[in-house]
Amino acid sequence: MRHLTSTACLLALSAGAAESQASRPPAYYNPAWAPDASTIAFESNREGKFAIYTVGRDGSGLRRLTTPDADAEQPSWSPDGHRIVFSWDKNGLRQLYLMNRDGTDPRPIPNTPLGFYATFSPDGKTILFGAQDKPRSPHYRILVVRPDGSGLRELGDSAKSNEGPRWSRDGKHVIYTEVPLLERLPNEAPKDFVKRRDAQQRTFSIAPDNTEKQPISQDEAHRLASDPELSSDGKWRAFTSGHADSAGVFVTDVMLHQTRRVVAAAQPPTALDDVAKAMGGKEHVLAVRTLIVEGTGERLFFDQALSPYAKTNNTLTAFRRSYDFANRRLLQDETRESRYVTPMPPPLRVRGGVDGDVGYLVVGDGPMTRTSAAVAADRSAEFVYHPIGFVRAAYSPGARVTETIDGSTRRIRLDAGTTSFTMDLDSRTSLPTRISRVVDHVMLGDVTLEVELSEWRDVAGLIVPMRIVQREDRWVLSDLRLTSVRANEDPGNLAATDSVRASNPVVQAGEPALAVNVQEIARGVWLLSGPQFNGGVYYTVAVEQSESILLVEAPENDARTLAVIAKARELRPGKPIGQLVNTHHHFDHAGGVRAAISEGLPILTHDANADFMENVVYRRRHTIRPDALERNPKPLKLIAVRDKLVLRDSIRTVELYEATGSQHSASILLVYLPAERMLIHADLETPVLVENVERLGLRVGTLVGLHEVPGPWPPR
Ligand SMILES: [Zn+2]
Repeated sequence: MRHLTSTACLLALSAGAAESQASRPPAYYNPAWAPDASTIAFESNREGKFAIYTVGRDGSGLRRLTTPDADAEQPSWSPDGHRIVFSWDKNGLRQLYLMNRDGTDPRPIPNTPLGFYATFSPDGKTILFGAQDKPRSPHYRILVVRPDGSGLRELGDSAKSNEGPRWSRDGKHVIYTEVPLLERLPNEAPKDFVKRRDAQQRTFSIAPDNTEKQPISQDEAHRLASDPELSSDGKWRAFTSGHADSAGVFVTDVMLHQTRRVVAAAQPPTALDDVAKAMGGKEHVLAVRTLIVEGTGERLFFDQALSPYAKTNNTLTAFRRSYDFANRRLLQDETRESRYVTPMPPPLRVRGGVDGDVGYLVVGDGPMTRTSAAVAADRSAEFVYHPIGFVRAAYSPGARVTETIDGSTRRIRLDAGTTSFTMDLDSRTSLPTRISRVVDHVMLGDVTLEVELSEWRDVAGLIVPMRIVQREDRWVLSDLRLTSVRANEDPGNLAATDSVRASNPVVQAGEPALAVNVQEIARGVWLLSGPQFNGGVYYTVAVEQSESILLVEAPENDARTLAVIAKARELRPGKPIGQLVNTHHHFDHAGGVRAAISEGLPILTHDANADFMENVVYRRRHTIRPDALERNPKPLKLIAVRDKLVLRDSIRTVELYEATGSQHSASILLVYLPAERMLIHADLETPVLVENVERLGLRVGTLVGLHEVPGPWPPR
């Protein structure tokens, strides 16, 4: 038996009033004229973090010179116009860089940590800059350095904070303001403190060799100092504005007093805009109300494989997923032909849907049943796992969208209720390459559930992926090859029936009220049925021994196993629970193993499951939904069983055997109680059971299957 992977994240895409980052107007600062007055360099955050741009004086040739993933600021030209010096917060360390005027070959200038506001001397031999003595310090210093990092020298009185360094126009002096490092007095208002400090600050002129320091007046400073906003020929003044609807870079013709904007204030193109454009245009994508995708492919299960790390393959001979975005209904209709031995006769048609927050399932010709809320939420997530749904959701009012850059990959994060989805963009095409989110998995803990999107095709003007590969960390879950994608056609009836809407969802793992039923099936042998979570029946068998009680199987999940262990401790008060036998690695049968480890129980399992128990079950982190072992780490005590292990004491003998020849699991244990002639097993096929009992020479009277009530041997 298997149960569906579940996570408890309901989507609330229309909720949340936080402002989209994309709606903030971009800022523009620090325009600097190239020496020939043809070009202006400036900084802006119009594409992410602050980057250095250049633009022609007439507004032509706007060009970004640095990547918008680390703040680059305060560009200044070399006197020959070939290079630009600027301050860059790359790799988390701000320092000065030099690059060519087209942005190529950016190189750090040694000895300039925390440097900013760098300017070349008119002869190009020296760079003047400011620097903090340490991050966030109010103490600023003024330094000069040669472009190769040599000749570093501090100017002025290092006991003062020296600010606003500028070259005099002739390059013979540096003009700066000396600010005393004052402490605020007790009870001094901040504005009084600023006033007192301003009153004590003084402007100086100093030679770049740190001689000839002399005080000058403000007027004199203005007269002497160079002005980067004014072109060297004095004809043009550049300035920036950050005002919401007039943000940009402006140039004034000084003679004619005419100003024009050379870089527009328009909303910067966001990664989201670029994706929408690449997919056929925002209007086109937002106009998609329904979508029907059809094709074939494969569906793989790794939680029910023949052995750990293997997978079971199903060919999807027919696959159709219908999305009704406007009414929030989705139906996946697929026909599986298993490529492994299964009790289900192939082909099997499985229809799973969600209608608002009601999840539903139809297996074969069976009735429609309601799923757990977690399964419904997982299905709702499919709306966002299609890039059209993602883009629609990201543009919806109130959507919380943030954009980041990782190397050359632009990334859009969409926060949706308690979960968030991330879309990665192809750096060349701006089409999405993957959509992912991190979810909790009962057995595996924190996993990245992602779809990889490829083979994009133009379908009536919409650019859509025709290949969708779904993965859960390293495990491939499905590989869809679409043959048809149609938008805005009638998807048929995707609604849950009224009776399914009126029924209760299947109880979700981890909910309280964990009643455990106990039935003594032989003296000192009990059947414990935990709370049912996913519709199937699972038993744990408790077997009394002289010093402790042995448990067989910890199925489903934490909550169930903890409840069963607690109940088992009441069976013989004072007698501890000794160890746990895990029959096989299938996730529904091993979902409580971590809980058993957290209770200090040694785990007995087949030798071929040992690596999986140790390196997957035990090691993985469960931080999203911390389980008992995450909260209460314990060492793993693992006992690997090969063909046979006998646990014998004064009151009972328990024998563990490897069962061979099963197509269900190649690493599965049988538990035999010789005195009771009782055979305990999980999921083994009847002929395989019979073969093994004969091979091992067991004298079985009662068969205890962990999914059904005990019955006589041989089974019907
Ligand atoms: Zn199984």
